[in-house]
Amino acid sequence: MTLTPTTSTAADSNEQLEHERLTSLINSMADAVVAVDEEAKIRIYNGAALNIFDVNNIEEGTPLNSICKPVDKNNQAFDIEKLVKSASMPISNRDLRLAYADGSQINLYVSIAPVRLGYGSKGERGYVLLLRDITREKSLEEERDEFISVVSHELRTPITIAEGNIGNAEFIINKAAGAEVNLDEIKQALKEAHNQVLFLADMINDLSTLSRAERGKLQVQIEAIDVNDLTKELLDNYSKQADAKGLEFKLNVDPNLQQLHSSKLYVREILQNFITNAIKYTQQGSVTLEAAADAENKGIHFAVIDTGIGISKGDRERVYDKFFRSEDYRTRQSNGTGLGLYVTMKLARLIHAEIGLNSELNKGSTFKVFIPNLE
Ligand code: ADP
Repeated sequence: MTLTPTTSTAADSNEQLEHERLTSLINSMADAVVAVDEEAKIRIYNGAALNIFDVNNIEEGTPLNSICKPVDKNNQAFDIEKLVKSASMPISNRDLRLAYADGSQINLYVSIAPVRLGYGSKGERGYVLLLRDITREKSLEEERDEFISVVSHELRTPITIAEGNIGNAEFIINKAAGAEVNLDEIKQALKEAHNQVLFLADMINDLSTLSRAERGKLQVQIEAIDVNDLTKELLDNYSKQADAKGLEFKLNVDPNLQQLHSSKLYVREILQNFITNAIKYTQQGSVTLEAAADAENKGIHFAVIDTGIGISKGDRERVYDKFFRSEDYRTRQSNGTGLGLYVTMKLARLIHAEIGLNSELNKGSTFKVFIPNLE
C-alpha cells in the first residue's frame, strides 16, 4: 500500500488526522521507508522507496527479495530477506550496493528495525526498513582511506631511511670513542638522510597545496615574471639532484623572451613537478627545460624533456589522476604519491595553462605547458 491520505469519513476524526500526519511525515522523508510483514512481504512504502528501487509502483504483498536485490562488497547477491528476518533488534548495514538496469550502481545504507505494524493486539509483527543512497559519502570515505594509506606508506619509507642513516652516523661516532672517525662514512649517511628529509618536505608541500586546492582556497596572485631568471633558478635548484643521478640538466631558453604575467608561485610549482618527475624517472641521459615565445605573444611555451623510462599509451591518460602511479617496476623503484601531476593540473587550471604530453616507452617523455599572460 502506498501511503496516500485517507479519504474515508472515519467517525474518529482524531484517528484520521493522526493517519494523515503520519502519511505526510513518511512521504516527506528523503529516505526510502519500507514496512514489511513477518514474511518480508512489502506492506507500506513511501515515494522515496519507488525512487531507490527505480519502479513506478509496488503491489502490496510483493516479496522484498523480488524488488530489492542488492550485492555485497564482493559483488555477490545478498539475501536481504534473510537479514530482515534475523533482525531481533535494530541493525544497519553500509556495505551493500544496488544495481540498476542501465548498469549504474549505488551504495546503500539500510537500517532495519523490528516493529508492530499497527496498534494493540491486532498489530502484526514486521520490520521497517530505511534505505538511503550513500554513494557520494562512500566514495569520499574510500578516497579518504586511500589517501591515508598512500600518504602514511609514502611517509614511512623516507622516515625509515633517514632514521637508519642518522642512527648509522651516530653508531660510527660512538664506535670510534674518541679515536679518529671515518668522516666519509658519516657524510654519506647524513647526505642520504638529508635527501630523504628534502623529499619529505617536497611531499608535505604537495599535500598542503593539494589540501588548499581541494578546499578552493588557492588564490592567484599575478606578477611580472622574468622567465630567464625563473629558469636559471630552477637550473640552480635541480642541477645537484640531476648530477647525483649522472644526468645532464640543460636549459634551452630564448634569451629574448618577454616578461610573463601570471602566478610565479604556480608556474614555478608546475615546472618543478615536471622537473622532479623527469629526474626521478630517467636513469640515463638528460633533462632539458625549454622556454619559447608564443607566435602571438600571448604567453610562454615551456617544456620539460627527458630521456627516461617513458609512459605507455594507456598510462598517458591517467597520469593526472589522483594517486595514479604507473605499474612499471621502474616507477616503483622511486618514492612517490601519485599526487604531483594531479596538483599540477589543478594549478594549471587556475592560471588557464594548457598541459600536453608526448612520450614513448623507453625513450623519454616531454611535458609541455603553455602559460598565458593573465591580466
Ligand atoms: P609520483 O611521481 O609521486 O608518482 P605524479 O603525479 O607526479 O606522482 O606522477 C604520476 C605518475 O606518472 C608517476 O608515478 C609515473 O608513473 C608517471 N610519470 C610522471 N612523470 C613521468 C616522467 N617524466 N617519465 C615517466 N613517467 C612519469
